[in-house]
Amino acid sequence: MPHVAVVGGGLSGLTVAYRLKQFAPDASVSVLEPRERPGGNVGTEVHRGFRVECGPNGYLDRTPAVPDLVRELGLDPIAASEGSRKNRFVFLGGKLRKLPGGPFGLLTTSLLSLRGKWQLLTEPWRKTPPPGGDESVRDFVTRRAGVEAADVFADALVTGIHGGDPALLSVASAFPRLPVMEREAGSIVRGFFRAAKKRKREAAERGEPPPGPMKMWSFRDGLQALTDALAASLGAAVKCGFAVRSLAESASVSQWVLYGDHAKARSADAVVLACPSYEQAAILEEVNPELAAEVGAIPYNRIAVVALGYRELDCPNRPDGFGYIAPQNTRRDVLGVQWCSSIFPDRAPPGCVLWRALVGGVHRAEQVDWDDDKLGRAVHAELKLAMGVKGDPIFRRVVRWPAAIPQYVIGHADRVARIEALVARHSGLFLAGNAYKGVAMADCVEQGTAVAARVAQYLQNTAV
Ligand SMILES: Cc1cc2nc3c(=O)[nH]c(=O)nc-3n(C[C@H](O)[C@H](O)[C@H](O)COP(=O)(O)OP(=O)(O)OC[C@H]3O[C@@H](n4cnc5c(N)ncnc54)[C@H](O)[C@@H]3O)c2cc1C
Repeated sequence: MPHVAVVGGGLSGLTVAYRLKQFAPDASVSVLEPRERPGGNVGTEVHRGFRVECGPNGYLDRTPAVPDLVRELGLDPIAASEGSRKNRFVFLGGKLRKLPGGPFGLLTTSLLSLRGKWQLLTEPWRKTPPPGGDESVRDFVTRRAGVEAADVFADALVTGIHGGDPALLSVASAFPRLPVMEREAGSIVRGFFRAAKKRKREAAERGEPPPGPMKMWSFRDGLQALTDALAASLGAAVKCGFAVRSLAESASVSQWVLYGDHAKARSADAVVLACPSYEQAAILEEVNPELAAEVGAIPYNRIAVVALGYRELDCPNRPDGFGYIAPQNTRRDVLGVQWCSSIFPDRAPPGCVLWRALVGGVHRAEQVDWDDDKLGRAVHAELKLAMGVKGDPIFRRVVRWPAAIPQYVIGHADRVARIEALVARHSGLFLAGNAYKGVAMADCVEQGTAVAARVAQYLQNTAV
């Protein structure tokens, strides 16, 4: 029976292992995870009735990948509140300003000047050929829709998803659909309309009702329900307390030997590295230093999650919404705030709210080293300003992510292509995880499924 070792028990690694059990039922699979609990970035904690998401806050149903997995696992997801879908804000000029939800909102928004609105609304007719090479998110949006749209909307998008800098991130890697829309529809706005029409047509062909707008989802007990269910379905295949430190390609029957701490070793016919890319680089050093250097060059940002609980009485302003972004170019003490208890139920005890700030990012990375008191004070001061809170927080939880989200900087796609070419030289070696082709949970599940299919194909071809 062939054996596959999956290194890293985050959402990516767990998905690879779960799908492998379906795609290659004859193979034995193990997931090697150093921590006590699998799940990686996904983690939910409950303290005094406050349910805190330490990492991601929810997943989007942008593609069927996560909804299908959730259904297969028999989980009961909950959708984010209607208000949180419609009401998202930007903190600019000392005020919360609503992000426009459609063309009418664009006409009336106070986020853009008249000139900014004109430049954005005339995007479908703009003829600005893309430059030859990779383009930053900021340059792309400026070219298509004007500098104000780039400063407000591109920054909000990149801050909200990547905690990154739109001037540094590659549009083709961070938002691959946008350049495709420009190429195929001649415009982003037209591209979105065409994509919506296509989704409707495909649903009609399948005899399904027209798809609604994209939604964010979680579970009553928190997002960890998903990784817990994946891990439970894998049972003893998940081996916690095992950190892989290096790999060796062996000429004997099994292709690979994985070394852990204290000379612990395991062998496998195929290896999937699904740990963070800087860990993959360290593990690959002896196998292929050039590959290790490419993988290790993918940068990460640093983020601290600061969750604060307040009495409702102390929060006169409790909008029915998702939260707000403070664009990175404003260099405030928070990147954004999510109003967790208005997005999903059961996030705070009765009479209280739970709000969570993301702090740090690429421009304020040093904040992650602040102690809990300093972080708590800074976020409370921001919330006094933006939300008008009157009393002190009654609850605080700080979670630090010294390497939080991989940054797909200019040249990322070329780097991934070089990595893929180098990996192809090592039979039975596969790379997965959020460092390559998407950082959202939906991307991790999609990519994890794709990698599992390739591993199954490999096992079949080599018939080990
Ligand atoms: C603060 C924050 C907020 C986010 N918010 C959202 C959100 O709201 N929605 C969304 O869709 N996405 C969000 N994301 C992104 C998403 O959570 C991640 O991209 C995704 O969970 C990554 O999963 P992964 O399995 O690829 O990596 P990880 O979760 O990093 O898992 C990697 C695993 O590898 C293990 N490992 C490390 N070293 C070794 C080793 N030497 N040997 C073996 N195993 C090792 C780790 O312990 C870990 O369990 C957020 C991320 C962060 C940090």
